Amino acid sequence: MVKMILGLVAAMLLVASVTLGVVNTLKGKSLEKQVLAVRTELKETKARVDEVEAGGHHENAAKAHADAAPHWAYEGEMGPDHWGSAFPTCASGKSQSPLDIKEPFEKGTYEIKPNYTTGQLKILNNGHTIQVNVPPGSTMRVNAETFELLQFHFHRPSEEHINGKPMDMVVHFVHKSEAGKLAVIGVLLKEGADNEAIKTLWANAPKKEGPEVVVENVKFNPANLLPTRLNYYHYEGSLTTPPCTEGVAFFILNTPVHVSKAQVEAFPFKLNARPVQPQNGRKIYTK
Ligand SMILES: [Zn+2]
Repeated sequence: MVKMILGLVAAMLLVASVTLGVVNTLKGKSLEKQVLAVRTELKETKARVDEVEAGGHHENAAKAHADAAPHWAYEGEMGPDHWGSAFPTCASGKSQSPLDIKEPFEKGTYEIKPNYTTGQLKILNNGHTIQVNVPPGSTMRVNAETFELLQFHFHRPSEEHINGKPMDMVVHFVHKSEAGKLAVIGVLLKEGADNEAIKTLWANAPKKEGPEVVVENVKFNPANLLPTRLNYYHYEGSLTTPPCTEGVAFFILNTPVHVSKAQVEAFPFKLNARPVQPQNGRKIYTK
């Protein structure tokens, strides 16, 4: 619609210019001024149209987002049992996450090497979790393949169970390879002493849902949330939130990191963990 208006305005101005061209021979110099005025007007019109288009685009994008991404929750009528009605893979997928991690285990062959760097803290409350968006430069190698760390976020309690039980919380580090493959490192958090890294994050985490906040003067290294030992449980799973897309490699580190009870309680979501999913014959590897 806006483009049509722009086209119409351009056509009218073209007619005006041609008309002025005819007038040119008659009126001589005053024409130049008129052409300039027409050009200026064309520029201003274009600027206004761009503005309208940009505004319209935002509205449309927000509407499209609302249409494409129905509301979902962790409890009640929009809870995990109902995700499948709007997001079919959540119900029909055969490789869903999280899993209850228990024997038997196969021997893991992957070598995982996170190489995270310090960067500007960018944090948000997206209504489902607290998420930190990671600036470019933090990577992880899985054997020969390199993954870029995109973001990490928290669940309470841990989504993964170990021998039938969840831990107090889990951090999911979400990585993507150049080929588009997703890999998640899960770090289980267990109640104990204060966690310094989480202290920094909680101090800057928005209490209410909203856009990303870039925290001036606060730098953060995601490696501060990793345990020293990188032994893991590995399985092929999915996103644990709608749309539950599969093809995600999970590496749940088997060494937990401590977090204080007060810190767990200060996390603004009381429950944001999807229940464990059927294993459906998938193997769990450990290293
Ligand atoms: Zn997660």
